[in-house]
Amino acid sequence: MKTEKRSLGAEIAEIVKQVTGNSGHTLPLHEPEFSGNEWAYVKECLDTGWVSSVGRFVERLENDLAAYTGSGYAVAVVNGTAALHIALLLSGVEPGEEVLIPSLTFVATANAVSYCQAVPHFVDVDRLTLGLDPIRLHDYLHEIGERRADKGLYNRKTGRRIRAVVPMHTFGHPVDMDALLDVCQQYGLEVVEDAAESLGSKYKGRHTGTFGRFGALSFNGNKVVTTGGGGAILTQDKKLAEMAKHLTTTAKLPHPWVYKHDRIGYNYRMPNINAALGCAQLEKLPEFLARKRKLAEKYREGFKAVSGISFFSEPEHAESNYWLNAIILNEPDMQLRDEILQETNKHGFLTRPIWTPLHLLPMYADCPRMELTVTMELEGKVINLPSGPSIIREEL
Ligand SMILES: *Cc1c(COP(=O)(O)O)cnc(C)c1O
Repeated sequence: MKTEKRSLGAEIAEIVKQVTGNSGHTLPLHEPEFSGNEWAYVKECLDTGWVSSVGRFVERLENDLAAYTGSGYAVAVVNGTAALHIALLLSGVEPGEEVLIPSLTFVATANAVSYCQAVPHFVDVDRLTLGLDPIRLHDYLHEIGERRADKGLYNRKTGRRIRAVVPMHTFGHPVDMDALLDVCQQYGLEVVEDAAESLGSKYKGRHTGTFGRFGALSFNGNKVVTTGGGGAILTQDKKLAEMAKHLTTTAKLPHPWVYKHDRIGYNYRMPNINAALGCAQLEKLPEFLARKRKLAEKYREGFKAVSGISFFSEPEHAESNYWLNAIILNEPDMQLRDEILQETNKHGFLTRPIWTPLHLLPMYADCPRMELTVTMELEGKVINLPSGPSIIREEL
């Protein structure tokens, strides 16, 4: 038994080596690539002195993002967590309310809810998308929810209002948005999409992050494109976009010299030097996506013949950015998972497990949750493979 398991780890390492054509170098999970106008745009910031909160690149990045995603408006901010925070605030999330989020996500999703002094309420995911399961969410809300006279949905067990849902497009694979939006409409819930991982991913031809009242993007160093650190709030609503801009720029009232602020705002504005990087990266996005898709194809082909695992492919009706490629073990098996991680990392392939489900972290252990069967199953089954845009070099 033992030797058989060991050999699967070695077999996987060999396939990753063949697919990536890597010979001896350490291959990170998602390395950024700067092969376009990054130097030129950043240099322009340095040469002109516009490195900080004023400059032409912030506005350009916002316009480029809105055009690319088809979102009416985009507001650039310091990181994806800040984008989620402001999106939740402007969706009306109030202290003491609950926000439904997957337990199987990066910790930032729950942290942003906590910054609003609200409570994360964990729901399970779907095996086909790795994101929120709309059918089980519907049944669950039917069971625990109560519509009150104010039209709000309340958690019968905690007595708290459930204000919003945050679907997260795991590894860039879109949630089944039509079904989810139906459920949210039925129960009167706001939708804020955590699209931090899904720039370039579409659901039925429409870009992720443009379905909910808001979408949040991240441009952290390991995401599809990077600004060093950064994020953006997407919305179709001009008024909300203006409010997001106001709130993320210290809530200062426009005036040439007077410092007047009309509420407690945030210093969440993206600096111009980061936006410059982002503009150059966005120019390369179509090429990155093509190369990442090619890499996913090669992995899929490579893992075809391996028994005991499968390569995760984009859901039907979706076009994924394949931010992080993933293999899934047939059965949840922590020991086998860890052996595969060890074997591949030993060979310099920095594979990673999926996140520890958030309801298992100390600060979120007492939060309300539904039965998280699929989440727990996936924790023992999912392994991410090196997926950076530079792995496939050929012109496409
Ligand atoms: C990266 C990420 C974020 C937050 O992004 P930062 O820019 O690092 O703050 C939020 N949610 C998910 C699912 C992410 O992967």
